[in-house]
Amino acid sequence: MPVFGSIEAGGTKFRCAIAGATSAIIAQADFPTRFPDETIADVIAFFTSNGGVSSLGVGSFGPLDLDPGATSFGAIVRTPKPGWSDFNLRAALMSALGCPVAIDTDVNASGLAEALLGAGRGFPSLAYITIGTGIGGGLIQHGRALHGFAHPEMGHFRPRRAAGDTFAGICPYHGDCLEGLATGAAVFARAGRHLADTPQADPIWNQLAEYIGQLCSSILLFAAPHRIVLGGGVMASNPHLFGAIRQATTAHLAGYLGPLKLDDIIVPPSLGTEAGLIGGLLMAGATP
Ligand code: ZN
Repeated sequence: MPVFGSIEAGGTKFRCAIAGATSAIIAQADFPTRFPDETIADVIAFFTSNGGVSSLGVGSFGPLDLDPGATSFGAIVRTPKPGWSDFNLRAALMSALGCPVAIDTDVNASGLAEALLGAGRGFPSLAYITIGTGIGGGLIQHGRALHGFAHPEMGHFRPRRAAGDTFAGICPYHGDCLEGLATGAAVFARAGRHLADTPQADPIWNQLAEYIGQLCSSILLFAAPHRIVLGGGVMASNPHLFGAIRQATTAHLAGYLGPLKLDDIIVPPSLGTEAGLIGGLLMAGATP
């Protein structure tokens, strides 16, 4: 019987899981993210002490090199996290565990799980956006994440500035791209307080909804996905944003795609914090 492994590789912890033929988890452990050799040693010990796995799926923080023809396929590139830039996560896991390793971004792994088992179940296409410390997005169609020469980087889309908003933004590359304007860190840089301490009447919420709504309307125009799932810490802690984001999306579309039921299209995730781990299992070959 095949046994499938999954890793959700994050900036603060590596979550690991093992499942049988379906994606029901039978063993699970978390390890803090330190230097690669320390963290990977813990991960390897977890899988080997549980009898190993037939194949492994990894959803990782990035950016990642996902060009299957490159020798650096599966490496983490240009991260500020000490020791991880150019570390080939896929190669390290493959050689230690002796099994096939599928790797994608954490966003695409979560998107795959939501598409097949969560909020997109039964629909052929889905966009998954995470809004937290950063902003990432992926497109899933017929159970596969879209890749071009690289993985999508939707968080660096540059929105049209809201009237009167002169905040320079905090993206080190672009300043006022979406990630530079609409993360918790951007709000802190802009307003000097955390989102958790921001009353619902504060105009900052409408600004966030405006910018995220611009991304949603653009995604609908670019790819017409059946569902746009908005996940990540900012959305999980502030579900009141959904209504304002749908309104902003409607305003930006201006009726162009006809009457859309955005209440059904722009939705929260339904797998909670488990989407990344489940996505890894699906990437490894577990059946939904
Ligand atoms: Zn940017």
